[in-house]
Amino acid sequence: MSNKEIPYKIYLEEDEMPKAWYNLRADMKNKPAPLLNPATHQPMTAEELSVVFCEELVQQEIDDTTAFFEIPEEIRDFYKMYRPSPLVRAYCLEKALDTPAKIYYKFEGNNTSGSHKLNSAIAQAYYAKKQGLKGVTTETGAGQWGTALSMACSYFGLDCKVYMVKVSYEQKPFRREVMRTYGASVTPSPSMETEVGKKILAAHPGTTGSLGCAISEAVEKATQSEGYRYVLGSVLNQVLLHQSVIGLETKTALDKYGEKADIIIGCAGGGSNLGGLISPFMGQKIKGEADYRIIAVEPASCPSFTRGKYAYDFCDTGMVCPLSKMYTLGSDFIPAPNHAGGLRYHGMSSTLSQLYDDGLMEAVSVKQTDVFEAAEKFARIEGILPAPESAHAIKVAIDEALKCKENNEEKTIVFGLTGTGYFDMMAYEKFHDGKMENYIPTDEEINESLAKLPKMD
Ligand SMILES: *Cc1c(COP(=O)(O)O)cnc(C)c1O
Repeated sequence: MSNKEIPYKIYLEEDEMPKAWYNLRADMKNKPAPLLNPATHQPMTAEELSVVFCEELVQQEIDDTTAFFEIPEEIRDFYKMYRPSPLVRAYCLEKALDTPAKIYYKFEGNNTSGSHKLNSAIAQAYYAKKQGLKGVTTETGAGQWGTALSMACSYFGLDCKVYMVKVSYEQKPFRREVMRTYGASVTPSPSMETEVGKKILAAHPGTTGSLGCAISEAVEKATQSEGYRYVLGSVLNQVLLHQSVIGLETKTALDKYGEKADIIIGCAGGGSNLGGLISPFMGQKIKGEADYRIIAVEPASCPSFTRGKYAYDFCDTGMVCPLSKMYTLGSDFIPAPNHAGGLRYHGMSSTLSQLYDDGLMEAVSVKQTDVFEAAEKFARIEGILPAPESAHAIKVAIDEALKCKENNEEKTIVFGLTGTGYFDMMAYEKFHDGKMENYIPTDEEINESLAKLPKMD
């Protein structure tokens, strides 16, 4: 088919939407390493995990042989309210760059939560409800995950307790109020509601909190409250499974127009959007059915893939969660302030870590000011105001399109546009005022936190 016949936006019909999530691990030759019990260093059993997580989600977490999990009808019905998300042909951007490359982006920002996180939030809330739970607890940093989860919980009539890192609670009052609109209770962390919160406040009066501390509080609250479990918005296998809906829709949409991607790009925080976007393509690549270049983009301030170590580490700074084998900067690593809050995580999905270690995907890190330059360019050309996280993928998509121009290559580039940036205008303000800085950790800083990785024997 000629380019002209491809519409600006490729939508799928309802009956073309995925009916099952795809579990990439089933097709991986080297499986990701299992979660370990931090005390015994033995693989976590389903029973141990079920104390913290919902039962069916635990089954999804540990299953690396079942390729497809049927999406329950209730979840598919919810998906229909905001999915399929469009696969957009970026004609205007192609023209502005004067590139022979074709550029597509899968836009996940068309729902009130403003990001892809709702895809997993609704699934996790569904299984919690099915188990007969009263509610769930979680942490949120920048607020996207807490927002998505509060929407999902209100849909299923579940109580939702969100521990929000205190500095964000104070600086992002709008996110907080969106969550409260959907009925969630939002507590600034550290708080006096939990033992761990009290301890931290006693040791560090006046602290503005951290993600690690909020996780510890949310886990404590879940395990201490009858009828509650803890849920997490990224990193875990179950989250990548739910996010496969992004990749499955993308592949169906491309196939519909006889298009084949050459390069697939996504930003990587904990790895859930990228893992979801690439899943069906990576499955083909592993089976030798097709080849793709797959690129993870991370901030230079928090470079887990490009400068981290592949090792077992704690998932949280509070060290209450199981150990995961992943590319990590050390759970002690506190990334310097970065305006892409969703990418400030010391570790990475164990699935993506294994794929990267096997040489099946690439990773690059980019500087914050370059990211915002790309974000602004994209907003002016394609109209969408991107989340700073998403703009990491935009930056590298533009770089690749310009390389195609140099080499006169007509490649097809697909990238994940994970969300919108309406709540990130303080960061845009800094950029516009020329006050944005590029923090890049030194080798010493990284080595210092890597030296504190748990000793495995
Ligand atoms: C949370 C978030 C990310 C990063 O999380 P992943 O789990 O790596 O996908 C990226 N973009 C947006 C808009 C987010 O909210």
